[in-house]
Amino acid sequence: MSGLIVMKFGGTSVADAERIKRAARRIVDKRELGNRVVAVLSARGKTTDELIAMAEEVSDAPDPREMDMLLSTGERISCALCAMAINDLGHRAISLTGSQAGIVTDESHTKARIIDVRADRIKAALEENNVVLVAGFQGVSGTARNVTTLGRGGSDTTAVAVAAALGAEVCEIYTDVSGVYTADPRIVPDARKLATVSFEEMLEMAASGAGVLQLRSVEYARNHGVRIHCRSSFEEAPGTVVVAEGETMEQPLITAVTHSTSEARVTLIGVPDEPGAAARIFAALADVSINVDMIVQNEPSSAGGKAEISFTVPREDLRAARAALEPLTGDAFVELHTYEQMGKVSIIGAGMRSHPGVAAKVFDVLAQEGVNIDMISTSPIKISCVIDRDRVAQAVQLLHSAFELSGPGTVAEEKPFKARQTL
Ligand code: ASP
Ligand code: MG
Repeated sequence: MSGLIVMKFGGTSVADAERIKRAARRIVDKRELGNRVVAVLSARGKTTDELIAMAEEVSDAPDPREMDMLLSTGERISCALCAMAINDLGHRAISLTGSQAGIVTDESHTKARIIDVRADRIKAALEENNVVLVAGFQGVSGTARNVTTLGRGGSDTTAVAVAAALGAEVCEIYTDVSGVYTADPRIVPDARKLATVSFEEMLEMAASGAGVLQLRSVEYARNHGVRIHCRSSFEEAPGTVVVAEGETMEQPLITAVTHSTSEARVTLIGVPDEPGAAARIFAALADVSINVDMIVQNEPSSAGGKAEISFTVPREDLRAARAALEPLTGDAFVELHTYEQMGKVSIIGAGMRSHPGVAAKVFDVLAQEGVNIDMISTSPIKISCVIDRDRVAQAVQLLHSAFELSGPGTVAEEKPFKARQTL
């Protein structure tokens, strides 16, 4: 379909009556320009958190199927209210649940993956001149036909999937920040809004703590060639467009500094140096669906010596990780240590692929201010350091300024730097 736009509004953008009306107005403005519009909405404000708290009040271990029945209501409320507001502006609007909209998922409750979008009902409603409001974050499972939800932040993925299925021109993500920044502006006040960012960089950013987009939505957009435009729901100015590599407007060495303050580290001492040792440990974690992030292991330096393995998990999963591993004590490892107050700082930039010395500069900048690095991991376009949680803000500021990411135009020009050694 031509002239078709998907607009997604996040929770803060529909938090109260006035904001719902404002979102309705923005949708209608797009419609009046001659576009066909599908809008995907999140639950209002803290609704999802409140629903989770309600479940925990009545059950210690809420049944996942019923949890999804409960959680999916938040997005339905937003859509029904917004449809009413659009009707009052003199336009036709119809709201659909994820299931009605044809969002088909696998069976994994509370973290389902979209496997198909059967968009005929959306298309029919568009043909009848409706604005179509689709409840984000939810679908229906293909075989058991249960209501499922897509994991926190999942409305982004709904929007991208609907945009892909309809061949929309663009998937606009309306949020409370005006785009993707070189760092979190709450930590770095002179962080710069990026006009464009590549899928690869956005994937690394979403995975390393940038809260703008759900990681899975970026993966989905890359796989299906969907154009994402992240922008503010409170102002008109364009935001950040996620594009294919090579289409980015600037080719800086470093694009952004991201961070997370919710890491925990586990260190296992005395791991036998034999095939299968690591497999046993991480299978135990996988069995309880713990998402392990950074893993570091070294071959013991002496023959017959034991290895040490360290890894990070989200802090909220630390207790479950410990419970899963403790039964393996004495067998898969000798001692288990945990460190709860960890954070992570990462620098991301496609330009580092072809530039030696970036890692050395990162370590040097942190060392000069006495920030101790616990763990390091890299990808071709990312360097991440696990550090103490209370040094994270300072580390972000130091790296942002060392790589000269502030201010208009400074990103594009590369300044040579002197590195002591290269990685
Ligand atoms: N309401 C859900 C959440 O808070 C989904 C979303 O906002 O995208 O995670
Ligand atoms: Mg959200």
